[in-house]
Amino acid sequence: MSIIRQDATTKAWVIIATERAKRPHDFKKAMATHASATYEASCPFCPGHEMSTPPEVWRLSHPQGTGWAVRVIPNKFAALAGAAEPQRREAGPLFREMDGVGAHEVIIETPVHNRVMPLMTDVEIERVLQAYQARVQALRTDPRVRYVLIFKNHGEQAGTSLEHPHSQLVATPIAPLQVRRTYEVAIGHYDDTGRCLYCDLVAAEVEAGVRLVRQTADFVVFHPFASHVPFETWIAPRRHQSSFGQVSRHELAALAPVLRETLRALYDALGNPDFNYIVHSAPIEDESKHYYLWHIQILPRLTMIAGFELGSGMFITTMLPETSAAFMREMIGQEMTHDGTR
Ligand SMILES: [Zn+2]
Ligand SMILES: [Zn+2]
Repeated sequence: MSIIRQDATTKAWVIIATERAKRPHDFKKAMATHASATYEASCPFCPGHEMSTPPEVWRLSHPQGTGWAVRVIPNKFAALAGAAEPQRREAGPLFREMDGVGAHEVIIETPVHNRVMPLMTDVEIERVLQAYQARVQALRTDPRVRYVLIFKNHGEQAGTSLEHPHSQLVATPIAPLQVRRTYEVAIGHYDDTGRCLYCDLVAAEVEAGVRLVRQTADFVVFHPFASHVPFETWIAPRRHQSSFGQVSRHELAALAPVLRETLRALYDALGNPDFNYIVHSAPIEDESKHYYLWHIQILPRLTMIAGFELGSGMFITTMLPETSAAFMREMIGQEMTHDGTR
């Protein structure tokens, strides 16, 4: 029989149907045999092609040599753009619309065309995190921006066809409904208990232990109780902070190896899987509150999201997070025994 579990942060339910399950290592796909090049003449993100992208809004110069290490540019096909005050219009009470004002940016993570994030160094990942933070901090001061979402689509199944490593940022003039919903759940928990739901959740996962992948002094990595997809992974800070924009430079440096090793372990375990990750933060006006904890959610795209998920909002996964987390602990034990603290 399958199990239906509730996600404590959204109250949504997930079906875990392990009977049609594969074993953890069955998800590993064959690595692509063609190794892509460090430079691609037709790639708009490769060095020397800066003129073929919109003018950059942020840059980190490469500490060695000339050139850049990370660039941020407006998305050429931006979903949201412009500096005007967003106007709302109502053609009747059921036909509400507003101007698509906001920002949609691309973070070009490296000048090297085939340097995918799981294979970067800690320093390279830290630079990408610095870019995220710099842009969040710049956009949160814009009074029109209510919410900033950072995400990464890696591979075609995750929604990108551009191979050059990049992440995206979307700043919206409204708080998205799904974000509002999770926030309301978190406020309800705070009203009931006086505590942050997410800090409670992290503490409960640490205590349960069975879904933990790794702990450091600053971060906890685990496969959540109601995982939406096989190998869903969360990286959460131990110290309460609502927004990624509030993270200190010291914590960014501590996050870089945790993110790298987590992505590397998934890369090794699953054969460079397509994945999305999302950096979740509180809506800007609620950053100072105690309800929400920023965290990174990694969603490997090993299975298709289809009609049932779209129709119900309920995910069906074929793997217990306890099983996948145990597999990852073993994986990390094999690969990363050089540092017993991780
Ligand atoms: Zn490129
Ligand atoms: Zn908290």
